[in-house]
Amino acid sequence: MLANKTGLIVGVANKRSIAWAIAQAATAAGARLALTYQGERLEENVRELCGGLSDPLVLPLDVTDDGQIVRVFEEIDRSFGGLDFLVHGAAFAPRDELTNPFVQTSREGFKTALDVSAYSLIALSRGALPLMERRGGGSILTLTYLGSERVFHNYNVMGVAKAALESTVRYLAADLGPKNIRVNAISAGPIKTLASAGVSGFSSILQIYRDRAPLRRTVDTAEVADAAMFLLSGAGRAVTAEVLMVDGGYHATGM
Ligand code: NAP
Repeated sequence: MLANKTGLIVGVANKRSIAWAIAQAATAAGARLALTYQGERLEENVRELCGGLSDPLVLPLDVTDDGQIVRVFEEIDRSFGGLDFLVHGAAFAPRDELTNPFVQTSREGFKTALDVSAYSLIALSRGALPLMERRGGGSILTLTYLGSERVFHNYNVMGVAKAALESTVRYLAADLGPKNIRVNAISAGPIKTLASAGVSGFSSILQIYRDRAPLRRTVDTAEVADAAMFLLSGAGRAVTAEVLMVDGGYHATGM
């Protein structure tokens, strides 16, 4: 599905990361990848994981740093000469913002959550634009959660950031569509990862999905990655500005 395609994957922390499952599926589908890691803490992890990929480009990237974003795309341009797809899997909110009552959300915490989790999609899309134009188009995919439209206990400012992210998807899709660049999101059901472990009470959210989702189970990262292959490949060529729910149908439940 992705033979002769090149992609950038942002947001791999470890083998449990949703972005890592997407990287594995994209590699199996024939893509050549650039992956980024945030800070030295994760470099070894990501380099070790990438050992199994074919000739990957591994680069540092903090998505709040415009200089690093520029350097990532310069390096991709030098090595790949263009880019076909981008997967945005970065999200962060300071721990206090995920434990304190929502009304206590700080200005700084709000800025950080929105900057890392939503604005970064705009900055990365801008960097990808000239490389995708050179390929005659591209596909951009981000990861979101139902907390953007419904209240989940302790998800707090991250829900607000996801609402901004989903709106950003629609505005980017409208802006970049004439250049044949599609922009979509997958709204994944809850999965145990480093990021989700920061949301207190996360295990009880998992149990509620098992009890109430139409499929009576949670989803795994490989299932999210399969849906990602649809949106990143030609199979999804007419789909843009979409938030695809990959959550066992939980979003449709009332009680
Ligand atoms: P994850 O493995 O912890 O991935 C999140 C990634 O974002 C980490 O690699 C993290 O690095 C990175 N990140 C944070 N701040 C960054 C920055 N300033 N620059 C660059 N990268 C940064 O968790 P995940 O669950 O797979 O999350 C991936 C995406 O899926 C997120 O957008 C998340 O909201 C979304 N999602 C997750 C679930 C779920 O239940 N797990 C459900 C729906 C949607 P650090 O570890 O260094 O912070």
